[in-house]
Amino acid sequence: MHQLTIAEIIRGLREKQFSSVEITSHLLERIQQLDGQYNSFITVTGEQALREAAAADARLAEGNAPAMCGVPIAHKDIFCTNGVRTSCGSKMLDNFVPPYDATVVDNFLQAGAVSLGKTNMDEFAMGSSNESSYYGPVKNPWDLERVPGGSSGGSAAAVAAQLVPGTTASDTGGSIRQPAALTGTTGLKPTYGRVSRWGMIAFASSLDQGGPIARTAEDAALMLSVMASSDKKDSTCLDRPTQDYTANLKDSIQGLKIGVPKEYFGEGLDSEIGARIQEALRAYEKLGAELVEISLPHSKLAVPAYYVIAPAEASANLSRFDGVRYGYRCENPADLRDLYMRSRGEGFGEEVKRRILVGSYALSAGYYDAYYNKAQQVRRLIKQDFVDAFQKVDVIMGPTAPNPAFKLGEKNADPVAMYLEDIYTIATNLAGLPGMSLPCGFAHNLPVGLQITGNYLDEARMLNVAHQFQQASDWHTKAAPVAE
Ligand code: GLN
Repeated sequence: MHQLTIAEIIRGLREKQFSSVEITSHLLERIQQLDGQYNSFITVTGEQALREAAAADARLAEGNAPAMCGVPIAHKDIFCTNGVRTSCGSKMLDNFVPPYDATVVDNFLQAGAVSLGKTNMDEFAMGSSNESSYYGPVKNPWDLERVPGGSSGGSAAAVAAQLVPGTTASDTGGSIRQPAALTGTTGLKPTYGRVSRWGMIAFASSLDQGGPIARTAEDAALMLSVMASSDKKDSTCLDRPTQDYTANLKDSIQGLKIGVPKEYFGEGLDSEIGARIQEALRAYEKLGAELVEISLPHSKLAVPAYYVIAPAEASANLSRFDGVRYGYRCENPADLRDLYMRSRGEGFGEEVKRRILVGSYALSAGYYDAYYNKAQQVRRLIKQDFVDAFQKVDVIMGPTAPNPAFKLGEKNADPVAMYLEDIYTIATNLAGLPGMSLPCGFAHNLPVGLQITGNYLDEARMLNVAHQFQQASDWHTKAAPVAE
């Protein structure tokens, strides 16, 4: 049953081939048996899941059940869950049990989905390898000595290991797409503002966006149809109604114009990955698409601009963790200052502290203009590159990550090497555009991700473009070699 996609589960439940309780129990057992080797979950909510599944079965029996009724999913531990510990991968929130659900979590509850638990992640979503989690690293199901990518490493690994058919995740600079690429899964970061951020713990508020990771574009479309809603509780959430993202999946892509940025195929790209991307582009030509070379001249400035803007916003967002209102508090503080300093010093990990230091520095008087303002100007130029490109093309394609999954520990000591993991994904966030990654083959026996970037609010077309590729290829059906 664990091989089933979300679309197949929806069908199976309605045709009464199995019940939600049956598939939920099966996946819970599988997590129990196998997740010791992956560490993709921080919290498994077995009893709650079985209660939700029984309720879903009752709704299904009554008829008129909502789309995702009875379908098991899991949430990245960045989404607040009522009554269930929400750690954000940090010691700081190890004891945090929110009294409310994030809008995304609530949307899935309303749709009848069954949550199996909370997935592992880099601390406060900072990282590209899931090694900064307080709960230990996640292992890539394709090779247990390698990372699954980050920061949504748990969400991606759980899907790749077929512990759950779909997960929620978040992407500030690549955290949905890069782990999807490294684990052979399909992940989508929507347009900034398409999915509510309310109850999703903030990292860099002008960049953060929630989205799904699943095995197929069709499943990502089903999940996005639930996730994307307007939300009065998030003032940056776009005032647009929910939408059926599966409606256009079958459309022909004859005449589609695909922009291929010349900057994305240069130095730093693993040559086998480059070859797989070229093959995928050829496959698109066979499907009737036309390739157009484009240029994104400021793309080399994306990583440096991001590593000023994201830490600046993070330093402000993380100032709320002071040991007073919630989260970790140090033992026996001598006075208020000691309480702040030791609670933060002991509660945050190394990468989070590095970002707070960089961000506070970039925002401080005297440096603000030189760094923060400059980075915002560069951000504008990067956005303009895309606006110009989308005058000529419908979507943009290239590699998601410059290399396949790397070894645990390989980049840990070198933050800059780690930051370069997102060299192809970060510009999308700076511009607020939607992006996705889908499997397109293997390099060095590890999965390769093809990145599709779309124009603003063009998620339905991107999903159509991805689905058409998946109808003509079988990379997304390859399963990681799970040691049962
Ligand atoms: N790897 C990037 C970082 O560490 C992006 C993380 C993310 O998208 N949350 O900031």
